[in-house]
Amino acid sequence: MADFRAEAEGMRDQLIAWRRDFHMHPELGYEEHRTAAVVADHLKRLGYQVRTGVGKTGVIGVLEGARPGPVVMFRFDMDALPVAEETGVAYASQVPGRMHACGHDAHVAMGMGLAELLLAHQEDMAGTVKLVFQPAEEGGNGADLMVKDGALEAPRPDVFLATHVWADRQVGMVDVTPGPVMAAAETWSCTISGRGGHGASPHQTVDPIVAAAQVVTALQSVVSRNVDPLEAAVVTIGSIHGGDAFNVIPPQVEMTGTIRTYEPETRELVLRRLHEVIEGVAAAFGASAEVDLAPLTPAVVNDAQVVAVVRQAAEAILGPENVATGERTMGSEDASFFMQQVPGCYFFLGAANEEKGITAPHHNPHFNIDEDALPLGVAILAQAAASYLF
Ligand SMILES: [Zn+2]
Ligand SMILES: [Zn+2]
Repeated sequence: MADFRAEAEGMRDQLIAWRRDFHMHPELGYEEHRTAAVVADHLKRLGYQVRTGVGKTGVIGVLEGARPGPVVMFRFDMDALPVAEETGVAYASQVPGRMHACGHDAHVAMGMGLAELLLAHQEDMAGTVKLVFQPAEEGGNGADLMVKDGALEAPRPDVFLATHVWADRQVGMVDVTPGPVMAAAETWSCTISGRGGHGASPHQTVDPIVAAAQVVTALQSVVSRNVDPLEAAVVTIGSIHGGDAFNVIPPQVEMTGTIRTYEPETRELVLRRLHEVIEGVAAAFGASAEVDLAPLTPAVVNDAQVVAVVRQAAEAILGPENVATGERTMGSEDASFFMQQVPGCYFFLGAANEEKGITAPHHNPHFNIDEDALPLGVAILAQAAASYLF
């Protein structure tokens, strides 16, 4: 078996150079034109079959091994965030108000390195690798658009692998967890309508602010009193707006929020209760409510068999003592659109380093990664792929 750790460490300087280049040139979702061009050029130069413009700015590279076999897909997201960088590093963002504050610059660099590393083993490969570089992970559902644009066809993947650099884990560690690891997310909004009037004559009005206040309180009971205490769920009210003047009772209040769950049954329960509580409480105050729910992303659910393969690969690269399990978040991730159709594993690659002061959370203006994570991520992905292809 090849020594993927050594091979990936041999690319270390190149991986860092790529990552810093992307870091200096962050692009928001569906605007990843420069990033996609760099990726596509690299893949073409290596001899991959390349498809560009998949789901607007997505890029797919396919490499067939010497013999037929399974198709292993890898996903790397490319988009940055509307965050103004405050790290002060020499390779900081050169675009005002834009920053790779989630680490997707590292993902793209790892994908390019993996492409090169796997090419060197083309002769050993029975099967096909499919590298998918995805736009708009940050709320734009770029994965959904890529699926609709045929990203899972020609060839159809048998296995899906993805990783995310992770600020909650020290560099040199990974977390590989079976089952749900990222939540299903919905956005919701509601309008509570009463009857406006003079602030000194509330008896002549139906006050939607008072009704909304009760709705906010009553919604807290959905998680605390309806959901099984052993299941995970979040109901968040993210905005509430009503009224313009101190002496006017407004006719309407508007709220928006998000719901996060893992299990489909819990999701159905919470969505149903959201309607019942908002509409019922508003009615009790003589107001009416209209609720709108929109699914954002399904849950990321890791396949137990693929997890076992990735865990073994990570243990081979990092040592068993550095492979943790149990990390789950109520954050969302649109890799789930791929993983609904292809069994896969999405694992967390430690990238924090307290000694170096790299501790800021994702999406923070001070976010950074320990670049030692880059070759480790490449090596683990290659090692996992080898289990299927070598
Ligand atoms: Zn993010
Ligand atoms: Zn991210």
